Amino acid sequence: MNKINSKRFFNRLNIINNLNKDLSKNGVNRITLTKKDKQARDIIVSWMKKLGLIVKIDNIGNIFGFNYFEKDAQPIILGSHIDTVRNGGKYDGLLGVLGALEVIEILNNKNKIPKNIGIAIFTNEEGVRFSPDMMGSWSFTKVEKINKIHKIKDDQNITVKQALKEINYLGKEKQLFFKPKYFLELHVEQGPLLDIYKKDIGIVKGVQAINWLYISLLGQSNHAGTTPNSKKVDPNKVFSKILNFINKKTYSNSKQLATVGKVEYFPNQTNVIPNKINFTIDIRNKDDLKLKNFRKELIKQINFYSKCYSIDFKIKELVNFKSVKFNQKINNIIKKNVLKNKFSHMNIYSGAGHDAQMLSKICSTSMIFIPSLRGISHDKKEDTKKQQILNGLRLLLNVTEDLLKIN
Ligand SMILES: [Zn+2]
Repeated sequence: MNKINSKRFFNRLNIINNLNKDLSKNGVNRITLTKKDKQARDIIVSWMKKLGLIVKIDNIGNIFGFNYFEKDAQPIILGSHIDTVRNGGKYDGLLGVLGALEVIEILNNKNKIPKNIGIAIFTNEEGVRFSPDMMGSWSFTKVEKINKIHKIKDDQNITVKQALKEINYLGKEKQLFFKPKYFLELHVEQGPLLDIYKKDIGIVKGVQAINWLYISLLGQSNHAGTTPNSKKVDPNKVFSKILNFINKKTYSNSKQLATVGKVEYFPNQTNVIPNKINFTIDIRNKDDLKLKNFRKELIKQINFYSKCYSIDFKIKELVNFKSVKFNQKINNIIKKNVLKNKFSHMNIYSGAGHDAQMLSKICSTSMIFIPSLRGISHDKKEDTKKQQILNGLRLLLNVTEDLLKIN
């Protein structure tokens, strides 16, 4: 029976994460298309080549590795991303990439090397530096023209194309230069459910819809001490109403999620009424219609209160992804192998966005979740027990073996 090489897997994981110094204090900072991202990419590519994989880079910097490549071969692809948020965790993304490498290394050790299998590492899953998130997998599926994606800028006005060139990962391969038959992503849950219910494995039924709005409220700067209240054109008045609305709608039992995560004040001075507040709202729901209704109501509120307080506003949509249902056939195979390995499990809906949801538009796709201790993710405290990781790797291997039999 094929076995996971635990020492090799964790060794690789540590090599990549230790590119960041002082992990316990700062967490992992592998922001997309930065020097740290490049270092990690280069090392993983060298491991892929050592394994004899044919490495191909596409025009958004996605990295693919194949045992054998033919345009119409329709391989099974395993993978995830390696970029992180600021001060992120050790497993988000990297687990799925190094897990894929481990599985292929084990399969290739057999007498007969499986032809139709490969690895994918997708660019900018996190969306910290460039919006939208899941950019690499989104671009790969060709729903948007590459020239348009290349022009997207970060806060420093650097375009995606420039950033790709800077780290030497602007590849030659075009969007959708091959089509996978199956895509499977192993990932930490990034939420508390598996930990609360003490389950080894989450069989992922789908991903909830995500909408990101970028809102500017425009007022008039003036002296905080001399401007009478009746003359204040203060965007805070509208901003506080919006926060109130969100708080009201996201009570404990509500399935509606909404978060204001980024706020900028202008000119950002203690004694000056702001002339502008920029902020983001991240809205999620597994029900597309409920998300749409929440959004509609939110915009109505912004409209209403802006009028009340003579504030101008602008709304820009950064991300709008519909909810996704994963492939039942793959999930049946996952369940069969969960039972065979005597793992405990539950069905789960992903609260976070993942590359797999993009891939589900072009091929049969699913995900395997393992627990995030205390549900913490996108933080240096993100953690998963070693045995839980090994369970996930074992399952990824078994499911891949079954998929190879039917592909
Ligand atoms: Zn991730």
